[in-house]
Amino acid sequence: MILILGPPGAGKSIQARLLDELGKVQWLSIGKILRDSIDTLPKAMSDQMIEGELIDDNLVSQALEAAIATKDNEPVILIDGFPRRESQVAWLESYLAKTQRAITKIIHIKLPEELSVERLRKRGRLDDNEQTVRKRYAQYEGEVLRVIEVFGGEGVPVHEINGDNTIENIHNQILESI
Ligand code: AMP
Repeated sequence: MILILGPPGAGKSIQARLLDELGKVQWLSIGKILRDSIDTLPKAMSDQMIEGELIDDNLVSQALEAAIATKDNEPVILIDGFPRRESQVAWLESYLAKTQRAITKIIHIKLPEELSVERLRKRGRLDDNEQTVRKRYAQYEGEVLRVIEVFGGEGVPVHEINGDNTIENIHNQILESI
């Protein structure tokens, strides 16, 4: 499995979708899964999503496990948006051990906060106002960077990409590395 991580607006999902369309990966976006089922979530959780807050680990990991179970063995699964905090790393590591899978690479798309805010101002998703974007950026800096560090420390190759670039340029950089 490959992880694609980065701050809001870095272009994780668009890159993941392009790779999926090419048949290079099977894209699995935990944010998309949650948004698609937002009407069935308890109100407290859908409110958290709209506010740009991370939601309950158990719910997210169960949704992820169920989604992985629907995928084939090939091509490689590309997980977009998970893990986002250390407790989720612990869950993922036990899941990997149980299912004899491994994280073979991390694609880390970087973007400065001001660009993240500027890009998402134009996107207009429900959770894309400036305040929630800054909150999500802070989570990235406070928690996601630590997640990347943990996997890197375990020897997982981390491919760092400057997200302040065209979609095509980033796509080509990723293609060279996977
Ligand atoms: P994304 O589409 O990746 O930007 O995620 C949108 C929202 O879904 C986040 O702001 C969270 O509310 C929720 N979410 C996505 N991934 C996770 C995760 N790994 N843990 C907890 N909440 C998540």
